[in-house]
Amino acid sequence: MQYPHRRNRDGSVDSICPRCIATIASSTREADLKCPETAHVCEPWRLAYFEVENSLVTWFSRSVRDNRASA
Ligand SMILES: [Zn+2]
Repeated sequence: MQYPHRRNRDGSVDSICPRCIATIASSTREADLKCPETAHVCEPWRLAYFEVENSLVTWFSRSVRDNRASA
């Protein structure tokens, strides 16, 4: 699975799980995110929550827009 990366103002990069919207890991080096991404397992309660909310697409498009605005 591909995990989108979100760059923060302080230069660190968050790895976000697109299924459960958890922040898997945060690091100043994107290469360091690979290992926790591989080990990530979605938490069932998160999946259930976001399926009900159906907010995945909304959340993501909003997040991308915020990123561009702050860049
Ligand atoms: Zn997940």
